[in-house]
Amino acid sequence: MSKIQDMLFYLITGLQKWREDYSQIPEDLHKGMLMFIHEAAHSGSDFPADLHHLLQILHKPSKEWGIQGLAEFYPAEAALIEEFIGITPDAEDFLNIYISPKEAQQKNMLAILKFCRDDGLNLQDEYARVRKFLSQSQNAVLSSFQLAQFAESFRDRELSNLVRHCYIEITPLISNYRKCPHCGWTLEYKQDQWHCNKENICREMSNFEKFEHFNFGDERVYRMLPGIQRYVLLPGISEMKIADNLMRKGYQVELYPNVDEYDLAVSLLGKQVFLDVKDFKDPSMLANFFNQKTLSYLEKYSEHVYVVIPSYRNDLYSSYSKRVSMLLKDDAKKYIKIIMENELEQMLKWVL
Ligand SMILES: [Zn+2]
Repeated sequence: MSKIQDMLFYLITGLQKWREDYSQIPEDLHKGMLMFIHEAAHSGSDFPADLHHLLQILHKPSKEWGIQGLAEFYPAEAALIEEFIGITPDAEDFLNIYISPKEAQQKNMLAILKFCRDDGLNLQDEYARVRKFLSQSQNAVLSSFQLAQFAESFRDRELSNLVRHCYIEITPLISNYRKCPHCGWTLEYKQDQWHCNKENICREMSNFEKFEHFNFGDERVYRMLPGIQRYVLLPGISEMKIADNLMRKGYQVELYPNVDEYDLAVSLLGKQVFLDVKDFKDPSMLANFFNQKTLSYLEKYSEHVYVVIPSYRNDLYSSYSKRVSMLLKDDAKKYIKIIMENELEQMLKWVL
């Protein structure tokens, strides 16, 4: 990792830890601030004199921080902190793509992946079953009975526990929440509006006017961890929609083939292509993600592999795929083919 990536990492994890306990400043945050000062001074810019000043700066788009070379790792228009929200969705995307999901809440999904890929196990069916379950809006919030029923359907105790750990109990809070009309997760009332998780993209994808209460009676209630909602459920809803749509058109579709080597394998008359759905808020984050990868990683995206962007990203950020392609460096450009969800069928007609 570069020094700038390190700095972003310590600032973000430090801010997350600080939120859990405001009584003392976490070491990570302090370290991140010293690195920020160093980088700003190195770029010949003013640097923050204290933490208060640093926090003010981190509320601004990163292009205003006065640090050279930052845009290679972090979207120029994105801040690191947002009022009422805490760290921004872009900061979460940063953790998710650079720091292995270990630091993000997706670590549970990663553990499931590792378990299913384990030598000698190769649990393709189990893995696909977990991913499909976590990709359905009706499973975003479950009663303890429903969760136990699914978790215990796996014979292996460890896998069963890993599945349970994708959820957290919310029984005492359930009356504060409403059901998200798009993803089924919990909506929370903040600043005179109902919000679904951090980025709140569900608002763009459904009729956000009438909301149902959850109705679990006296049962204990669990919801997916926020990181699972954002990085598994939301793209999962797109993946399932793409798969259903293609199957209806007569294609054969396998979800998460080879224990998640790709998201979808699509075949017709003996020919096959692979699709990877990538869902980041800012196109520059996706381009940077590929730009940082080694050639041997990029080779995974050879001839028959396409990176698919969910359609709603285009509604939120115009010319999303063009923007990614433009920002890719030469090596990445050679391998990475980006298409939007709505261009998919046309492409498949062409190559299959
Ligand atoms: Zn939602």
